[in-house]
Amino acid sequence: MGQTLIIECTRCGGLFLAADGQKTRTCPYCGKRVDVRKAKKVASAQTAFEASELLRNIKSRKGFNRE
Ligand SMILES: [Zn+2]
Repeated sequence: MGQTLIIECTRCGGLFLAADGQKTRTCPYCGKRVDVRKAKKVASAQTAFEASELLRNIKSRKGFNRE
């Protein structure tokens, strides 16, 4: 399995997970289909678990506590 990426939605700026090699991913916040290759990659992790922990850390740092 490849890496799990944390990407930023090109429309709303929301952060979510995508598998490396995946082409598109639907943003869970605004519903936009995001092109994974074009989206800004905030971070990457070896496992999906690690990625979700990382995502939670980034969100709490940014103050996204209501999601
Ligand atoms: Zn979005």
